[in-house]
Amino acid sequence: MVVSVMDPDEVYGSKRKNYNKPIKPRFKGTCPVCGKEWKSNRPGQVTCGGECSFAYHDAYLVHQRYEKYGKVREFKYSGECIFCGKEWKSNRKRQRTCGEPECQKKLAQETLRKRLNATK
Ligand SMILES: [Zn+2]
Ligand SMILES: [Zn+2]
Repeated sequence: MVVSVMDPDEVYGSKRKNYNKPIKPRFKGTCPVCGKEWKSNRPGQVTCGGECSFAYHDAYLVHQRYEKYGKVREFKYSGECIFCGKEWKSNRKRQRTCGEPECQKKLAQETLRKRLNATK
């Protein structure tokens, strides 16, 4: 099919409108794991997605859940934060950080690195 005589503006005009139709992401933020900026239509998004969300879940959410439901009770385990050395108490055997945002972030990044290495 040859379209030779048509004005290019007319040809592309209508199409272009569609291309430019802004799909406005309603949410945006910075991924706490890799620091990348993301935009999304999904409510509740925190990370840029993919591996970062797994890492985030591992490092942050499990801890938060404990903060929420852990209340005041005996903690079975205690130890030192692997990043800052501060003491932590927890019922999680796997607990490795004090839970400070900085340390949780580092843990998430470490988790991400391990995941990426594991898939190689
Ligand atoms: Zn990320
Ligand atoms: Zn720490």
